[in-house]
Amino acid sequence: MNIFFLEFRDPLFSIIIFFALIFIITFLSYWWGRYKRKEDYKHLDRFLKQFRSLPTKDELKELVSRGELSQKSWMLLAASYSKSGNFEKSIEIYNEILKQADTHNQKEIMYLLGKTYFKAGFLERAKQIFLEILKKHPRTPQALETLLLIYEYMKDYKSALEVLDPLDELKKDITCDTLYLKSLELLNNVEVPSEEKTQKLLDLYLRSRRLSYMVFEYLFRVNPSLAWENFDASESENLVDLLWNIPKDDLNLDVISENSYLRELYTARGDFDLSLKSSVFEFDALINLRGKTNATLSFEYICTNCKQLYPFPFHRCTSCQSIDTISVEFHLVKDYNKDFCEESNSFQ
Ligand SMILES: [Zn+2]
Repeated sequence: MNIFFLEFRDPLFSIIIFFALIFIITFLSYWWGRYKRKEDYKHLDRFLKQFRSLPTKDELKELVSRGELSQKSWMLLAASYSKSGNFEKSIEIYNEILKQADTHNQKEIMYLLGKTYFKAGFLERAKQIFLEILKKHPRTPQALETLLLIYEYMKDYKSALEVLDPLDELKKDITCDTLYLKSLELLNNVEVPSEEKTQKLLDLYLRSRRLSYMVFEYLFRVNPSLAWENFDASESENLVDLLWNIPKDDLNLDVISENSYLRELYTARGDFDLSLKSSVFEFDALINLRGKTNATLSFEYICTNCKQLYPFPFHRCTSCQSIDTISVEFHLVKDYNKDFCEESNSFQ
């Protein structure tokens, strides 16, 4: 019976107390370790959470006004936002910097703000910013060049042509821009009858011999016989995709038979039998494979100025803004269209 009622002087009591203490200490240390780990995790999570969401407009206002970061750091951050496509945050930062009383480099920041509005597609706001810059600093070629682009995107070609005058005074070469904008103005003018439009566009081309891709793309579409009459065979390689896609009924055999490149091109396409071989690999392969395989040409377009590659033709490069720098590249591909036609016929 005494075994359940140990006296405190009993050595067994001391041993029980000793093990009880060890158990309590071990438990407390385990619990404290777990608690600390959980706290550390929560702290890190709270810290990282700040960077997962972008600061709101009010937070940005407060951060910029506090002046803890230099103007250059804010501008770098705005440029980085703009580069990653977050134009809204970039615009908010530029606007907040401009609101600061001690803002220096105001013209430069306004220029960057205008460019960001332009990239984001807010053309009217971008226009207002550049007009404001030019009001105070009329001899700023970068602002004039961007304003010209804005007017062009807004299809306000008359205003774009007016911007060329101050650029000319600043000794900038405006020949190509003038021709390009005049051609665009003409093509987009719904009041000019089609025949008059065609003739005026042709006159512009014949006087300058520039923008051949733009002019012949339109001419082959609306008046193929006039296009062939005025076709300069030396431009054949530059217009190869346009020539390749002309319907057979619109071809002019007289012009084609006089030029070796055109003879090879239309023999390769399978319209005529005017050539036995070609120095162009793709044409040569198609001439030799005539009727034996479903092959055709696929085209892509490179800007000769900045080497940007496009899947579609362009008149002004959207990357470097150069005009008439298109170069057509082509390669052999399977003709899925022919496959589809043959499959459709087999069901009939
Ligand atoms: Zn380019």
